[in-house]
Amino acid sequence: MDCNTCRTLIGSFLNNTLDDKSKRDVLEHIKTCSNCNQDMKLHYFVDEGLRRLENGGNLNLEAEYNHMIQEEEFREEIILRNSKIVRWIFAGGLTFTLFVLIRSIFLV
Ligand SMILES: [Zn+2]
Repeated sequence: MDCNTCRTLIGSFLNNTLDDKSKRDVLEHIKTCSNCNQDMKLHYFVDEGLRRLENGGNLNLEAEYNHMIQEEEFREEIILRNSKIVRWIFAGGLTFTLFVLIRSIFLV
């Protein structure tokens, strides 16, 4: 993903309206691009800071931002892992079905 694409997706990422694939791409990109990481952080600080000021809550946004990113990464990792497991189960089922089919053809 390039920086322009990443920047156009930051708002949706923080609103949690991105699909999993784009979310993963954004997370991958900000890991290696400090400019976009800064942009994302700034966006988060402004959004969250304004919301918090309205509600009169406390402001430790740096730690919360890092926490939010970690949680998103963790969530994406689980989704990826689960989709791999599903693929393996599916491949296993397919192999077994083929085996049964071939066996029944040759045993008749
Ligand atoms: Zn970038």
